[in-house]
Amino acid sequence: MPTAIRWDAHSCLPLLSGIDLGVLRRHKQAGFDFVSINVGMDMNPIDQVMKCIAWFRHWLTQHPDEFVLAGSLAEIKAAKAAGKLAVAFDLEGSTMLLGDVAMIEVYRDLGVRQAHLVYNRNNTVGGGCHDEDKGLTPYGRDVVRAINRAGILMDCSHNGERTSLDVMETSERPVIFSHANARALVDHQRNITDRQIEACAATGGVIGVNGIRLFLDAQDNFAEPMARHIDYMVQRVGPDHVGIGVDISFDLGVDDHPKHEDRSYWWPASGRYNRTLTGGAGPEVLPEIEQHLRKRGYDDAAIDKIFGLNFVRVAEQTWRAQ
Ligand SMILES: [Zn+2]
Repeated sequence: MPTAIRWDAHSCLPLLSGIDLGVLRRHKQAGFDFVSINVGMDMNPIDQVMKCIAWFRHWLTQHPDEFVLAGSLAEIKAAKAAGKLAVAFDLEGSTMLLGDVAMIEVYRDLGVRQAHLVYNRNNTVGGGCHDEDKGLTPYGRDVVRAINRAGILMDCSHNGERTSLDVMETSERPVIFSHANARALVDHQRNITDRQIEACAATGGVIGVNGIRLFLDAQDNFAEPMARHIDYMVQRVGPDHVGIGVDISFDLGVDDHPKHEDRSYWWPASGRYNRTLTGGAGPEVLPEIEQHLRKRGYDDAAIDKIFGLNFVRVAEQTWRAQ
């Protein structure tokens, strides 16, 4: 068993009260020690976000032998030592802030440790990757500063290119892409440009390569293309700035989409989203990625960094001791 922490920067469960989070055992079995799970996106009404957080917190505290809601690196290390999976929450968007930067600290106190502020479409903070991106707004700059102050990881996944570059210029702490692949390899608006990759590394940040079929242009083998995206980024910015954000959406057979949600707005036809193209790797992909990286000449030290220590580093530089 590796002694270094294995870190999944982003995965998803249905955003519903009453669901069984036990499927996260797959992460632990696959070798992960930590996973950040989404608790709200721009299309989710605030009552859904709050009920989801309440349930996830409740469920995790009811399963203390296997899971820990972790707010600090010390708690993650303790969870690993005890053979448990550490879990924290992330936000994908900013409508749940209700236009008030003071809400950031509320979410932090509820367990949120990572946030990207725009989900595919423009909002009051900035531009989405599937929209006319006009850049970070004045309110958006205030939100970035509030995220820095609150000690939450500043994420740019789903942002438009210009907004993400503005965020990286504004943030006083390292900025990450928790789940984003290389556009030079697969031309999709959700994938990020070389400029974004380089700007992220310049902040000291990390890019988590995801296992989504559509963003890898893969069929059923996800490990090899994930290793290819990892290697592409390592070639550009070195092994200190690349990680893993599996981005599995666990399918529990329930529909968590809000009633009046317009899916063609949030996931537009230009993005070629459909049921056969979405989906992708599960946490079990990790050992196979390792094999592919070793074939490419990666040693233990590089693999430990990419599989977790890089995200550990930015969390150390960002999260406040709780
Ligand atoms: Zn996402």
